[in-house]
Amino acid sequence: MVIIGAGQAGLQIAETLRAEGFADEIVLIGEEKFPPYQRPPLSKAWLNGETAEERLFFRGAEFLAAKRIDMRLGVAAKSIDRAERNVLLADGAALSYSGLALATGARARIPPIAGVDLAGVCSLRDIEDAREISRRIGQAENIVIIGGGFIGLEIAAAARKRGRAVTVIEALDRLMARAVSQKISAFFADLHRAHGVSLVFSAQVAAIEGSEGRVAAVATADGRKIPADLVIIGVGAVPNDELARAAGLECSRGVVVDKYGRTSDEKIVAAGDCTVFRRDDGRMIHFESVQYAVEMAKAAGASLLGKSKPFVAAPWFWSDQYDVKLQMAGLSEGFDAMVERRSGESAFSLFYYRQGELIAVDSVNRPGEHLLARRLLDAHISPEPAQAGDPASDLRPLLR
Ligand SMILES: Cc1cc2nc3c(=O)[nH]c(=O)nc-3n(C[C@H](O)[C@H](O)[C@H](O)COP(=O)(O)OP(=O)(O)OC[C@H]3O[C@@H](n4cnc5c(N)ncnc54)[C@H](O)[C@@H]3O)c2cc1C
Repeated sequence: MVIIGAGQAGLQIAETLRAEGFADEIVLIGEEKFPPYQRPPLSKAWLNGETAEERLFFRGAEFLAAKRIDMRLGVAAKSIDRAERNVLLADGAALSYSGLALATGARARIPPIAGVDLAGVCSLRDIEDAREISRRIGQAENIVIIGGGFIGLEIAAAARKRGRAVTVIEALDRLMARAVSQKISAFFADLHRAHGVSLVFSAQVAAIEGSEGRVAAVATADGRKIPADLVIIGVGAVPNDELARAAGLECSRGVVVDKYGRTSDEKIVAAGDCTVFRRDDGRMIHFESVQYAVEMAKAAGASLLGKSKPFVAAPWFWSDQYDVKLQMAGLSEGFDAMVERRSGESAFSLFYYRQGELIAVDSVNRPGEHLLARRLLDAHISPEPAQAGDPASDLRPLLR
């Protein structure tokens, strides 16, 4: 079995193959020189200096050796020959496969703005990016973050903790707009302002301006010029699906997979950020999350062995900003009713309904309610709105 991409999903596929009883050779190919590691802390605990770098790595060398996972690090896969069933690596080696998994992840999207190549313009995807950003935050006076999504806002929080002036420029009129409701956006806008972040909404970046090759300011289309000696671009990610496209696999915004992680080639599965998931109802969903990468990898690993273990769980995600933990379960998009369950000024959950059915719950500093929400969503149980909205009402009995 050959797995391309030694990240969250790639490692999970390898481990799933072993857990499912596969005893033959597994080769895990990784372009980065690091063994598989967690990315979420790169914009949170690691950037805040609360987690040591060694703690990012999922597994030690001993575990990988014991599982006989042959890791080839620091080398990229260059092409796939589906007819011959082999993968060509950048170092010229060719690996034949009986089953192939694509877990190539995604990369930061860099918009075509003048000045993105200047020194001091960064984006965050991997350990090396994080090291550079951390070092530059240490030296910067004025930081401009382009994009008010999760990663940009987490970096903003980390930079404020280190006392830097931070401006976030967002093209839309609210924060994290693709993922959360208006109410959560407003809560986080207040939070960032209270911590001294300057938020600029509904603004397009016209250019990043430099002086002597170094970034100096960000100019917006409406004529503002914001001084900056560090600019971080956080405007989403692009799936690394080029290998799959070149090999003729069906791709949309990513490699198309079904709930079993299967691609349009029966010998090839895919999982994680490089994929787009075609649900049974035909809707295409692109998730970039640990849960999705892990669960789809488990399904994909089982599929490689001819087993059917579909990925069905409701999606969940989290973000840490200052001392606030936001946790989301389900997809709130398209809700027609919302109920607030409030336990304190900065502790509440929002329950979203569509036609009386619970579709999502966003929790702020309510980890217990988040876990409960995931179980309710997975079991398709919808509490009565009045009950959901009453913090004194125990929802756990509904699960019995
Ligand atoms: C800063 C940051 C914060 C995040 N925070 C959260 C969070 O709070 N919660 C959450 O759920 N998710 C979070 N995510 C998303 C989460 O980390 C990803 O969804 C997850 O890592 C996806 O796993 P993956 O295996 O698909 O991709 P990756 O982990 O990116 O692994 C893909 C690997 O494949 C390698 N690769 C690519 N092409 C090739 C090739 N041709 N040959 C060989 N190797 C190749 C890449 O170098 C990479 O190492 C965050 C991501 C980032 C970057």
